[in-house]
Amino acid sequence: MYEQGVIRPPSEASSLLIRVTRNCPWNQCLFCPAYKGVKFSKRTVEEVKEDIDGMADELRGNSDVKTAFLQDADSLILPVNDLVAILDHLKEKFPKIDRITTYARARTLKHKSIDDLKHLKQAGLTRIHTGLESGSAKVLQMIKKGITPEDVVTGGRHVMEAGIELSEYIMPGVAGRALSEEHAIETAKLLNLVRPHFIRVRTFAMHPQSPMQKMVREGIFVPLTDDEIVAEIRLLVNHLDSMHSYFSCNDFSLNLLMQVDGFLDEKKEYMLNELDAFLSMTKRQRQVYTLLHYSGYNRYPLSVVNDQNVMDQVVLEIEKLERSGGEHGFDEYIRMLKTYQLPQPQTDNWC
Ligand code: SF4
Repeated sequence: MYEQGVIRPPSEASSLLIRVTRNCPWNQCLFCPAYKGVKFSKRTVEEVKEDIDGMADELRGNSDVKTAFLQDADSLILPVNDLVAILDHLKEKFPKIDRITTYARARTLKHKSIDDLKHLKQAGLTRIHTGLESGSAKVLQMIKKGITPEDVVTGGRHVMEAGIELSEYIMPGVAGRALSEEHAIETAKLLNLVRPHFIRVRTFAMHPQSPMQKMVREGIFVPLTDDEIVAEIRLLVNHLDSMHSYFSCNDFSLNLLMQVDGFLDEKKEYMLNELDAFLSMTKRQRQVYTLLHYSGYNRYPLSVVNDQNVMDQVVLEIEKLERSGGEHGFDEYIRMLKTYQLPQPQTDNWC
């Protein structure tokens, strides 16, 4: 028997999940339902070692495990010596492991010294995933992220200087309409300073129970349409340096243009062209592509809208939505489809 948390990045689907803390020590981000209502606690080294022993027993005869992920939302909040003891034990029990990753908050990373992080790297920690969401101080404050742009830059640089891979998550759409432009430009500015290995895009969609619904009712927050989110991503990519960071829309189906993906120093022009190609389509073509995408056909190229048969069939469906729901019928239906695709426990990250 061993304990597991509910959240991991999609890239860790086949990794061993080692729970070193429970839940999130911050737990206040307005967009994040992951750990609401449950308390944060640290686990002891002995508890975690017992879990690792349990996994080793269960997987006896299948010791080819090569990757592990330390849960939950902010593992680096544990003392470095505890983490090193856990990493040492993990590698002793699973000698073929060559990638160990975890989540950490920017503020926690800022308070870890470069030497501490180097120590963790030597012990086997290879990659840290962290939620930036936005580079704008105003947006970070609005969504109660509990970090500042300075935390992000200092924490991110500590990780990079320690030689650990850094994956920063960003959230187009989370700023709403009023702060969209600032969100895109300030996020690009911060990423240009940190220059992480990965920039992973997690398009915002509002959870039905999110406290942000109240902000919508009060008119404080106006959600963006999908077309506006694509325009926001276009502005962001345009402001990013052509650096050797991997910009990825590909591993999250709420990202409308999943093909916008690749190293910025190799594919920035291609990515801008794809974003422009979408934005220059007719409104009907954009609606057809969007409806197909959120209905599960999310690997179609943009050229699908040149297929008249597809257009004819999907436009019929869009017209039905417009007849039944009025001028917002289409957007409301897309919002509902996106809600169904919100990250589920054990399949995606919020941190
Ligand atoms: S996004 Fe991350 S830091 Fe924020 S509440 Fe959720 S788990 Fe905690």
